[in-house]
Amino acid sequence: MERLQKVMAHAGVASRRASEKMIKEGRVKVNGAVVKEMGINVKKTDLIEVDSVPIVQEQKYYFLLNKPRGVISSADDPKGRKTVVDLLSGVEQRIYPVGRLDYDTTGVIILTNDGELTNQLTHPKFGVEKTYIAKVTGLIDKKSVIRLEKGVVIDGYKTRPAKARIIDVDSKKNTSLVELTIHEGKNHQVKKMLKSVGFPVEKLNRDKYGFLTAEGLQSGEWRELKQFEVNKLK
Ligand code: URA
Repeated sequence: MERLQKVMAHAGVASRRASEKMIKEGRVKVNGAVVKEMGINVKKTDLIEVDSVPIVQEQKYYFLLNKPRGVISSADDPKGRKTVVDLLSGVEQRIYPVGRLDYDTTGVIILTNDGELTNQLTHPKFGVEKTYIAKVTGLIDKKSVIRLEKGVVIDGYKTRPAKARIIDVDSKKNTSLVELTIHEGKNHQVKKMLKSVGFPVEKLNRDKYGFLTAEGLQSGEWRELKQFEVNKLK
């Protein structure tokens, strides 16, 4: 359900303000009846007419992909590499990823044609929680974990407080598994944070984006988000 004037604006009828004026003037019908009061909510299936001409409501689509390695997370790539959009075969709409995962990073990424939600989710003020699991070179210690949590300086920028947890330390292989939860999305942030405390990342997976996980999805598989999941993201 969305406000009538918002739906009209999205359909390209007029700006929200001008759409409100049209409603007040009695030029807008919902399911055959003139609507003059402001702020009513309409459904995707409602027939909306302006001056008796039906408008086409823009449908919004939301997908969750378990991104594999070796795929670029943009809608197209000048170098012709495979993109996350290419993986959603059969989806006809023009969709694009919400934020970025590196070429070699795996895990949860959302794709949509909802520009408003994309802006909201990627805005630093909104601060969606993202949880990563990194395999790093070296045997990570509590001291480094505390530094990661308090904030480290990367490219002259001090990272915001984060959550970090050691999952495993393998002294034979000289590697560790670390879970890092951040609310920001600076370029290569997790790799740079771990490198700054002396533990270069070998493998990186995003386990969670907000409350969403890739549960039930093999690498490269995707699914449509459920309506309640979309509502919860907003
Ligand atoms: N941080 C990184 O370093 N890489 C990603 O892909 C995501 C977060």
